[in-house]
Amino acid sequence: MPTIKYKRILLKISGEALAGEAHRGLDFAVIHEVCEVIKQCHDLGVQIGLVIGGGNFWRGVKDGADKMQRSHGDAMGMLATLMNAIAVADALEKHGVPARVLSAVEAPKFSEYFTRDAADRYLNQGIVTLFACGTGSPYFSTDTGAVLRGVEIEADAILLAKNVDGIYSADPNVDPAAVKFDTLTYDEVLARHLKATDTTAMTLAMDNHMKLVCFALKEPSNILRVVCGEKIGTIVKED
Ligand code: UDP
Repeated sequence: MPTIKYKRILLKISGEALAGEAHRGLDFAVIHEVCEVIKQCHDLGVQIGLVIGGGNFWRGVKDGADKMQRSHGDAMGMLATLMNAIAVADALEKHGVPARVLSAVEAPKFSEYFTRDAADRYLNQGIVTLFACGTGSPYFSTDTGAVLRGVEIEADAILLAKNVDGIYSADPNVDPAAVKFDTLTYDEVLARHLKATDTTAMTLAMDNHMKLVCFALKEPSNILRVVCGEKIGTIVKED
């Protein structure tokens, strides 16, 4: 049985990653693959907090732009994250993994209201805990929500499963000379404006000494590899 490096993790998955090739909506084959790997981590005794973005349905700025007042657009984005959390919690339960949705915005028909202590209790019970609606406030991202929840639950690391396999010196889709970093400090990411998370999320991680591991979700088994301490993607930490 593999040994685990991180006992309690906060896993962040972008909404778009759940949409598969369509880039919109939900691809249940992808969700199934992700749930299989989460189950493997869960079976190893890893306590898993999960934040899922909402970009597969709606992003406040990108989709609302000048057509909507920002807070209204962001409210729709937060609701999108709740839809994703409900879908993934349902899929996890179908895989035999207990799951609960805790929402930063009260939605008692669909989820429990988030409190840090409820999350801690569920995680200690081996229940995968999904944090919906980001921070609960507009003008934030789910990356920031993920770091916030990661800090609150005192996670050992935040795993950022993205569309790229790490942090690069430039956009690898545009610049063929872009170089991937193995490790970076928060200061380096911020000073060089590297594309990792938004600045609010990065500074929150820095202020709270929270380690970030950025890697590609394309191979969902990467989640397990990171949990077991394999060095893939890019690690952002103090030194
Ligand atoms: N959002 C928000 N506050 C938060 C988190 C998210 O208003 O604390 C809204 C915002 O409009 C954002 C959308 O929810 O664009 C979806 O989140 P995000 O863009 O981070 O999703 P991802 O790109 O990870 O799928």
